[in-house]
Amino acid sequence: MRTPNHAADVAEVLLAEDAIRAKVAELGARLSADYAGKPLVLVSVMKGSLPFMADLMRAMTIPLQIDLMEVSSYGGATTETSGLVRILKDLSASIEGKDVLIVEDIIDTGLTLNYLVRYLRGKNPASLRICTLLDKPARRIVEIPIDYRGFQIPDRFVVGYGLDYGEHYRNLPYIGVLKPEVYGAG
Ligand code: 5GP
Repeated sequence: MRTPNHAADVAEVLLAEDAIRAKVAELGARLSADYAGKPLVLVSVMKGSLPFMADLMRAMTIPLQIDLMEVSSYGGATTETSGLVRILKDLSASIEGKDVLIVEDIIDTGLTLNYLVRYLRGKNPASLRICTLLDKPARRIVEIPIDYRGFQIPDRFVVGYGLDYGEHYRNLPYIGVLKPEVYGAG
């Protein structure tokens, strides 16, 4: 992969910083109302969900706990999901009897979430719901019930606000699409 150049490599901004901020505030308010008085644990799936998790938890006004998992669903500088899910980092505390909300960056084929939901259900939470910032329904292979959705986006490989291409571009404050020649150079 060639050396990334943020300004030169982005072809189009799909979701600007202020649109993301407004949506996260809206989701935070809804979640604060829906989970009031409940023992809520936000489970974020690293690394792509980190900015969303950090912003969403601060948009929530109710007491909550967080935990982090890391799974890998595709390898390196590729834009295809392999369907292979590996747990690289597990939960650090029990979620038994807790109300769990999975905080995801993007649902594409649904394979990663499908695996994760079954894995977490096995740990006997009181409830288990899904909040995803981005939903890319065009390539869905497994049906996933999405309880909270930020944006539905077209079938394009996006980067920024946590999402990477070859581990780069995660720190872009907006969500965008790279120029074809950047992906081609992978
Ligand atoms: P799924 O298992 O639903 O196909 O894919 C989920 C994971 O694949 C996401 O958490 C993300 O890591 C990766 N992914 C899917 N679509 C995109 C995309 O458009 N951009 C980036 N950067 N990653 C994606």
